Amino acid sequence: MDQARVVAAVEKGLFIDGKWVDATGGRTFDVVNPATGQTLCAVADASPEDGRAALDAAVAAQPAFAAMSPRDRADILTRAFELLHERVDDLALLMTLEMGKPLAEARGEIAYAAEFFRHFAGEAVRIDGGFQTAPAGGARFLVTRQPVGPCLLITPWNFPMAMGTRKLGPAIAAGCTSVIKPAPQTPLSMLALMDLLVEAGLPPGAVNCIATTDAGAVIEPMIRSGAIRKLSFTGSTGVGRKLLEQCAEKILRTSLELGGNAPFLVFEDADLDEAVDGAIAAKMRNMGEACTAANRIYVHSSVIDEFGRRLASKMAELRVGPGTEDGVNVGPLIDAAALAKVETLVADAVSRGASVLTGGTAPGGAGFFYPPTVLTGVPRDAAMCDQEIFGPVAPLTPFDTEEEVIAAANDTEYGLVSYVFTNDLRRALRVAEALETGMVGLNQGVVSNPAAPFGGVKASGLGREGGSVGIDEFLETKYIGIKM
Ligand code: NAP
Repeated sequence: MDQARVVAAVEKGLFIDGKWVDATGGRTFDVVNPATGQTLCAVADASPEDGRAALDAAVAAQPAFAAMSPRDRADILTRAFELLHERVDDLALLMTLEMGKPLAEARGEIAYAAEFFRHFAGEAVRIDGGFQTAPAGGARFLVTRQPVGPCLLITPWNFPMAMGTRKLGPAIAAGCTSVIKPAPQTPLSMLALMDLLVEAGLPPGAVNCIATTDAGAVIEPMIRSGAIRKLSFTGSTGVGRKLLEQCAEKILRTSLELGGNAPFLVFEDADLDEAVDGAIAAKMRNMGEACTAANRIYVHSSVIDEFGRRLASKMAELRVGPGTEDGVNVGPLIDAAALAKVETLVADAVSRGASVLTGGTAPGGAGFFYPPTVLTGVPRDAAMCDQEIFGPVAPLTPFDTEEEVIAAANDTEYGLVSYVFTNDLRRALRVAEALETGMVGLNQGVVSNPAAPFGGVKASGLGREGGSVGIDEFLETKYIGIKM
C-alpha cells in the first residue's frame, strides 16, 4: 500500500525549466525493483533533443541564479535539508524499492544526503576573496570568486540520493545552474528531489533533471556544445575516462569520482573485534556496492585464522532479503549482471585456491540476492584483487611484513580509500602516509562525511567533494589588477 503510494507520488517526466514534461515522442523506460525483478513504474526517457532543452534551460537561468544573494541560495539548501528529514520515511522506502538497500540504510543515506545541503548552506555564505598590495607597490590585486557556470552532473545508481546532493549542494551554493542525469536503474529518488527543491524555493531552470537509457548519445553533444562549463561525474573509471576525453575539446572543468579497489590492512597488534566490525562496515555498506568497499582484506598471517573465524561468524548472522522487510541487513544486488559478475569472481578465486569460510552460493529464485561471503587464502592473481567486486564478498589474503603489504595495497590503478587497523601510533601514521589513496580510515571502516574532502588519486578520480574544498570545484578565481 505504502509502496504503491510512494511510487505513484513521484513525477515521472523530465524536469526542465521548472516544469515536468514528456520526453520527445513520449518515450519511457521501466524502473525495476531488484528484490523482485518486477517493474515499479515507467519514467520519461530523454532524447538528445531533450538533453539540449535541459541544457538551454540551465544556460538561460545562469545569470539570474549567479546574481541571487548567497543568503537566499543558502536558505534554499537549508529548507531542502529540512524537507528531506520531514519526508525521510517515504524517500527511504522509494530508494529501497528502486535500489534494493535495506530501509535502515536508505534512511541513513537520506540523512547523509541532506547533510550535504546543510554543509553547503554554510559554505554558500563564506565564499571569500582577497585584496592585496602588489609586491612592487603601486597596484592592488582584487581576487574574487565566481560560479563556474552551467554544470552537467552525472550520478550512479548505488547512492541514488547522496551522489546527487553531493554535487547539487555545492553547485547551488556557488550559484551554478545544472542539468543532472541520474542512473537509469534508480531515477526515482532524484526525480522526487526536484519537487522538494522547488518547494524549498529553487527558481526555474536552476536545476534540471533528465533520465535516459541513451546516456552516450544524450550527454556527448551537451559536453561538446561548449555551453556547459563543468562536468561533475560519479561512476566507473571506464566511463569517467571517456567523458574526460570528451571534456578535453572545450577544456571543461571536471570533477571525477571514480572506481575504487580499497585495501583493508589488519596488523597483528590490531584490536581484532574492532577490525572485524570495521571490515563489516567497510564491506557490507550497501551490500558491498560502494566505491569505498573493502575489496582486498590483507591480514597479518599470525592473526588471519582468528580474524577469518570471527568475521565469517558475524557475516553469517546477517539476514538477506528484500530491503523492505524488518530485520533485513543485506538486500539484493542491483541487477542480474551484477549478480553474475560476483558469481564469476568468486568462482575464479576458488579455482585459484581460495577457501570459502561462509556464503559463496547464490540462493536462486526471484531477485538478485547473494549471501555475505568470506573467502580466505585469496591469491593476489585472483581477478577480484584487480576489479571492484561490488558485492558482499570479503576476500582475505595473508601478509607478513609492513613493506610487503604496503606494496600489495598500492599495486592497483585505483587510489580512492584504504583502511588500516593497528594500535601502534607510529605504524598507523607511517602506513597511512605510504598508502596511495585520497582517503584513509584509521581503525574505522567508514570515511564518508559531508564535512570531509572525499575523493581519490590515480584512476579513482580528480577533485574532491564535500569539506571546505568541495565548493572550490564549482568556483572560478578571478583576479582584477588595479592601477593606483
Ligand atoms: P557507470 O556505469 O560508470 O555509470 C555512472 C553514470 O554514468 C550512470 O548515470 C550512467 O548511465 C552514466 N554513463 C554511462 N556511460 C555514459 C556515457 N557514455 N556518457 C554519459 N554518461 C554515461 O557506473 P555505475 O555502474 O552506475 O556505478 C558504479 C561505479 O561508480 C563503480 O565503479 C563505483 O566505484 C563508482 N562510484 C564511485 C564513487 C566515488 O565517489 N568515487 C561513488 C559511487 C560510485 P547509464 O547507466 O545509462 O550508462
